[in-house]
Amino acid sequence: MQLRPDVSPLTRWIEPIPSSTRNLLRLADTDLTALQWGMPQLTRRCDPETHQETWHVYYGDVRVGTISMRSGIPVDEDPWGWSCGFYPGSEPGEHSDGCAPTFDKARAEFEAAWRIFLPKRTGADFQAWRDHKALTAWKYGMHDRGLPLPTQSTSGRSKCFCGAEISIASTRPHVLEHHT
Ligand SMILES: [Zn+2]
Repeated sequence: MQLRPDVSPLTRWIEPIPSSTRNLLRLADTDLTALQWGMPQLTRRCDPETHQETWHVYYGDVRVGTISMRSGIPVDEDPWGWSCGFYPGSEPGEHSDGCAPTFDKARAEFEAAWRIFLPKRTGADFQAWRDHKALTAWKYGMHDRGLPLPTQSTSGRSKCFCGAEISIASTRPHVLEHHT
């Protein structure tokens, strides 16, 4: 596996520019870079858990897509794949994906898809993704501690791991207020 020169937990996304200067900018990895190129919102983070090189693309704190090396493909096929879109917060039919011969081409195609996808989004769409993430993490937190969810108890009530009494109706507001 060929590691990119800028493998770091958080790397500023930058517009496609000539490769001679690109590596310098990648290494710079500063807010100044983002300001200069006017596209501060998209960032990418390398996923250390995956066998194949995988980058998760974030818009602020929302994970909006992936660029990764494809596994188990014939040598004459494009080695890079990308996908653009997030759920909940948009419909699967609005998502797009593709494959490309190089990382930079995959990134350029992702950016093109993003420019179509982003104008259709509202703040509520991004919030839907955040809320879902918080609720999922909270459910795992309850499960790990052996605590039942209100939906899993016959009374419809339970106790959160923070000590609060919760009902089916109050679970969502409680989690979003106290566990995000
Ligand atoms: Zn709680």
